[in-house]
Amino acid sequence: SGEWAKAEAIFRELEDKCGTPTAKLRQVADAMAVEMHAGVASDGGSKLKMLISFVDNLPTGDEKGLFYALDLGGTNFRVMRVQLGGTIKQECEQVSIPPHFMVGSSHELFDFIAGVVAKFVAKEGEDFHLPPGRQRELGFTFSFPVRQSSLASGTLIKWTKGFFIEDAVGEDVVGELTKAMEKVGLDMRVTALINDTVGTLARGRYTDPDVVAAVILGTGTNAAYVERAQAIPKLEGDLPKSGEMVINMEWGNFRCSHLPLTEYDQSLDDESLNPGEQIFEKIISGMYLGEIVRRVLLRMAEEASFFGDSIPPKLKISFILRTPDMSAMHHDTSSDLKVVGKKLKDILEVTSSSLKMRRMVVEVCDVVASRGARLATAGIVGILKKLERGEKERSVIAVDGALFVHYTEFRNCMKSTLKELLGEAASDRVILEHSNDGSGIGAALIAASHSQYL
Ligand code: ADP
Repeated sequence: SGEWAKAEAIFRELEDKCGTPTAKLRQVADAMAVEMHAGVASDGGSKLKMLISFVDNLPTGDEKGLFYALDLGGTNFRVMRVQLGGTIKQECEQVSIPPHFMVGSSHELFDFIAGVVAKFVAKEGEDFHLPPGRQRELGFTFSFPVRQSSLASGTLIKWTKGFFIEDAVGEDVVGELTKAMEKVGLDMRVTALINDTVGTLARGRYTDPDVVAAVILGTGTNAAYVERAQAIPKLEGDLPKSGEMVINMEWGNFRCSHLPLTEYDQSLDDESLNPGEQIFEKIISGMYLGEIVRRVLLRMAEEASFFGDSIPPKLKISFILRTPDMSAMHHDTSSDLKVVGKKLKDILEVTSSSLKMRRMVVEVCDVVASRGARLATAGIVGILKKLERGEKERSVIAVDGALFVHYTEFRNCMKSTLKELLGEAASDRVILEHSNDGSGIGAALIAASHSQYL
């Protein structure tokens, strides 16, 4: 029918506008490398902040002792104790942050956190040993952009991911946490303030010395990598002894003229909390992929009566289609696509859907996920280019985040795109490796490698 032809035309236009042919990905990779150069040259030199992490020593695998980690960066925060030495023993407590603390005042949030940490410390079990007379040491993973002045201090540049606590912007987050811990009588020293990407890098390096970079693909997306100190013109003071420095790229804010953007991305960005910012993140990460698919389906409903004569009211609600649901539909292997049918019914209240419609929905998911996965891979190739990693060297990228771990099509697309960009032979030497729980264990490892008792 005419309506179906219209829906197909909308789909073909989407496919066309989201297109990421190899040549385009190479342009994106090149642009990423160029922006990396500009960002390490001077602050404000690029959309990439290329933040100096002050981590100039990564774990060697010889770290020993009991260390604590605190991971704040999404709706949950975690506190853990990690016993290092040969094997890693860990205990963890995860607490969801009451929403009013995410938009309240700085001292309320940090008092709440310190209270949870104090309770956790009080329950120290027999497997965990702090030598007598030693102060507890903590690695604090705080996954928001921070301008650091040392490994254990830094001021918040801006909030993202649903947090908005105005009086914390510009404040030293370690100072705030330390004050709050003192108030509850907790004797604990914050040894390191890091980002989740930096933690993931450290976690990866602990088991594999060839880890050169880390990428997070979760609610948001970001990357960190190990740079030669001499290649960072904006680095002030003495160069680190190791000759290296970990850079937190904040790559979610990357943008270049080669990015394939659509009207759906434009309207999503216009209506977002941070218009014009985090464009790379908005076409790649878990917070947004399902929402892009919803916008495409809404246009099909409006202009091609895709779901029948009326537009399903639920389809008009922003963020109602979450990326895990998109992923479930995309992975539906049943012959009648019953998962797709059920999701359309449960989420959008579309009571009946034909197989043809369901197939179209899967195709839309595929186009949107592939674009994200291919661009993320181009970003990784950009990092390798900046590092000038030789053809013969083994390079491991530590990756974490639920999008990479649970969205198999996305992960597989990244792996095949890596082959496409690097060639079969070279791609065998570039490995995307899941680095489990980097933001927690990584923080404890960095606290250990920078312990006051070393
Ligand atoms: P965060 O990035 O917030 O620290 P996660 O790594 O758990 O935490 O990422 C959460 C994001 O991952 C969610 O926003 C969601 O979009 C995405 N996600 C979670 N589960 C899945 C899944 N099964 N398939 C695809 N995406 C998922």
